[in-house]
Amino acid sequence: MAATAAASAAAALAYLHDGHHSVFPAFSVHPAEPSRLFLSKALPKPYPFLCHNYPIAASSRRCMLPLTPHAALVDPSHAFLSADEDKPRDECGVVGIIGDPDAAQLCSLALHALQHRGQEGAGIVSSDGSSLHSATGLGLVSEVFSDPATLAPLVGEASIGHVRYSTAGAASSLANVQPFVAGYRFGKLAVAHNGNLVNYRNLRSALESKGSIFNSSSDTEVILHLIATSSSRPLLARIVEACEALEGAYSLVFLTANKLFAVRDPHGFRPLVMGRRRPTGAIVFASETCALDLINAAFVREVNPGEVVVVDSRDMSITSLCLMPSKSRKACVFEHVYFALPNSVVFGHPVHSSRYSFGAALARESPAPSADIVIPVPDSGFFAALGFAEASGLPFRQGLIRSHYVGRTFIEPDKEGRNLAVKLKLAPVRGILEGKSVVVVDDSIVRGTTSSKIVQLIKTAGGAREVHMRIASPPIVGSCYYGVDTPSSEELISNRMDVEGVRQEIGCETLAFLSLESLRGVFADEAHMFCDACFTRDYPVPPRNQEVEQLVEF
Ligand code: SF4
Repeated sequence: MAATAAASAAAALAYLHDGHHSVFPAFSVHPAEPSRLFLSKALPKPYPFLCHNYPIAASSRRCMLPLTPHAALVDPSHAFLSADEDKPRDECGVVGIIGDPDAAQLCSLALHALQHRGQEGAGIVSSDGSSLHSATGLGLVSEVFSDPATLAPLVGEASIGHVRYSTAGAASSLANVQPFVAGYRFGKLAVAHNGNLVNYRNLRSALESKGSIFNSSSDTEVILHLIATSSSRPLLARIVEACEALEGAYSLVFLTANKLFAVRDPHGFRPLVMGRRRPTGAIVFASETCALDLINAAFVREVNPGEVVVVDSRDMSITSLCLMPSKSRKACVFEHVYFALPNSVVFGHPVHSSRYSFGAALARESPAPSADIVIPVPDSGFFAALGFAEASGLPFRQGLIRSHYVGRTFIEPDKEGRNLAVKLKLAPVRGILEGKSVVVVDDSIVRGTTSSKIVQLIKTAGGAREVHMRIASPPIVGSCYYGVDTPSSEELISNRMDVEGVRQEIGCETLAFLSLESLRGVFADEAHMFCDACFTRDYPVPPRNQEVEQLVEF
């Protein structure tokens, strides 16, 4: 029965995925309708086709699913679990390489370095100077490109690549795996995108009303259609004209037969850096510097917000144009809190150093003087915990060991199963924790579900006497609209309750978050150049087409 329920939950999730928007509904029994499941998360847009067994009215954003033998009384967000499930997810990483005979091979290595930015799918498009060649697949880079025969057709000295984010339990679609390739009047064009367009729906409807036909439900395809329908020439002008219509976050790489374009939105939400490879002199673009490091490319500079960089493979000339209207820079601060690898330099700041400083500031403003040791929630809490320990004078210990061999494990969604999922990923070291008063440092709290299990694990399996939770970022109170997959605001625990409420919910002795002032203080006089809207709801680009809070029964 449990297996049937879990399978039904996964099936329900599949119904609620339209190929682009992954919906993570938390089902519950509606008090007034115990025979029905209440879908508590608003749908991203009206999709009459979304649940074909349960058609949703075109105007509805919420629905009630009849509770039938085929529907499961579970929370599907718990159907697939790991210790990382309760974290925001970055929605992709991009790579571009031009001027190297092993461009596609190097691209696959660079994508491997960016794997943390997306695990659902990966793809590479190469150019041999006259044609584009493409290979995409679902899964990790090592899975998609494990067979040398997959890479072999990707010949040529230029390539672009993409890793796509993963969504818990939601259906995946190969049609959404990038890079996308499209033909337009003057040839073929491939694109890979990191970010999210807030005006995607308006743009898509306008294009559809003029006859455009879409193959995927990705906002990236809109960019290709805008370029294809532009009457400007040359291609650079088409790209700029298309980008001027876009609102939101985009770090893009485009590939044609002989040119590579790298583009960043005028706010510079998502990172994009440029490097030069030794010894070939190949030019490399990547979401993070860790990708440059892996393929022996030296960091040259960031692609600036609003900039278009064009590299021509015929003479390796580099043209830089700042053609988009200048706007205030708003780099995503969450790259420093959680997303980026600590060995990357993002927006000009080493990530490990920012995290260390967040932890040290947290120790100064919210010390735990009675504690015996400081431990990180691995891996993302490591540098913040180190900063906290050194600033507070407490010993740093590795009290939790993370297993790197647990993938996305399907686990029965009952309470025991959820606890087992965290145990599989994180193992407490009893010899370090037993009888101790422990400061546990994590990077952030999203829903709070994993934090409570970690506290429980440290106390019960680890034998700790007290747990003092310290979070190296402010409370997350708003969803992200710029390329980060966050739960709806009603699912964010800090949006629903104050710090004391969260403390009680996760069951620790004390709880403190880094203040917004201290987070900004780490970046000093550059702080105004960072987006911190998920902590403030101060959105640099107003979200569009947001869900209408409406309950419709059918
Ligand atoms: Fe980053 Fe948060 Fe801004 Fe999204 S809202 S871009 S996650 S800082």
